[in-house]
Amino acid sequence: MDSDELFKRAVRVIPGGVNSPVRAFKSVGGTPLYVASGNGAHLRTVEGRDLVDFCCSWGAVILGHAHPEVVEAIQRQAERGTTFGINTPMEVEFAEFLQSKVPGLERVRLVSSGTEAVMTAVRIARGATGRRRIVKFDGCYHGHSDGLLVAAGSGLLTGGIRSSEGVSPAVAEDVFVVPFNDLEAVEAVVAAHGRDLAAILVEPVAANMGLVLPAPGFLAGLRRVADRCGAALIFDEVITGFRFGPTTYGALCGVIPDLTTMGKIIGGGLPLAAVGGRASWMDHLAPLGRVYQAGTLSGNPIAVVAGLATLRVLERENPYARLESGARKMADAINRDAECRGLDRVCVQAGGLFTVFFRRGAIRNLNEAMVSDTKAYASYFHRMLDQGFYLPPSQFEVSFVSMAHTEQEMSRFVEAVTT
Ligand SMILES: *Cc1c(COP(=O)(O)O)cnc(C)c1O
Repeated sequence: MDSDELFKRAVRVIPGGVNSPVRAFKSVGGTPLYVASGNGAHLRTVEGRDLVDFCCSWGAVILGHAHPEVVEAIQRQAERGTTFGINTPMEVEFAEFLQSKVPGLERVRLVSSGTEAVMTAVRIARGATGRRRIVKFDGCYHGHSDGLLVAAGSGLLTGGIRSSEGVSPAVAEDVFVVPFNDLEAVEAVVAAHGRDLAAILVEPVAANMGLVLPAPGFLAGLRRVADRCGAALIFDEVITGFRFGPTTYGALCGVIPDLTTMGKIIGGGLPLAAVGGRASWMDHLAPLGRVYQAGTLSGNPIAVVAGLATLRVLERENPYARLESGARKMADAINRDAECRGLDRVCVQAGGLFTVFFRRGAIRNLNEAMVSDTKAYASYFHRMLDQGFYLPPSQFEVSFVSMAHTEQEMSRFVEAVTT
């Protein structure tokens, strides 16, 4: 059964043939891939093609696919039971581990997806402040809960949907959208609506409109503004948590939010995410407080042991300098080549994250990211795929380097991009 046939079957039973929209390849064209297995930095498709994977399940598998220590942890736990709906020792260990690595994480609750984590953080902020409205940034993605689909990045951008249908206007009304990196726009909202503001929600490094870095002082400025108006500052670190070091981006840049959400990496490739922060905010959650949140599979034992195994490998191997230098080298080479050949192309990079935008110049927000030529991205995507590299099938997603990528694979990739 090849990918073509599988996709034909899929569209008859799954809407659009996919369980998450970007997988449909709509913005790059062609038939979506079906994967038979993954190992290290490599994917094997059902056709038996070997691909170097620069998507890494949207960054969830920072150790690479099927890391032996993660596999072993999952196997051992599976033999002891997959879920109990009762407390387990592993979840305590996991929460303590996160607390020891993330400053300001006095309390943390485990959930099953990034969507749930951010939805819960916003609910805590609203419950604790008794206020309705929040500020989010144009092109930042925070999962698919109703209010956060307003002007969201990731698959919405890819599919040309600026804000999802099916969201009550009453919910959307409570969300102010301002450009990323625009502190003045935040100040203006706060001047007019500061007393109604429950939260300022941001990806500290925006990674769902392609990669867009925070301008110097932007995050610290948000901290000041939130303090002034009494809103919770929420850093959505579902991508950035444990991405640039064995902690959050907030901790690395010295700006401590009130609430932090994490996901992807911390679940080791299984459905696990977390919301945490100061006890004064977190203790509004039931059963202590009156902000409700729950989950049949929350703190799932298999997900927790996979996550813990992943975080322990990261702690031991400390791959962060290597991820940074590997991705930096690729970005530098791609940018030098673009300059030499006069191409409209710029590679933005931070740690093991990078995005090749098909335009020139600095990219500080969504409007500037959207100038990128998405047709050129589609052709780059397919050229790379033909040469054995799998990239995110959208201009508005970031590419990920894992611990399993070798220097040789990275220089082969550079060669493919620059010739
Ligand atoms: C992926 C992502 C989410 C949503 O996480 P899911 O596990 O897909 O629900 C939320 N916020 C950010 C920043 C993300 O990158």
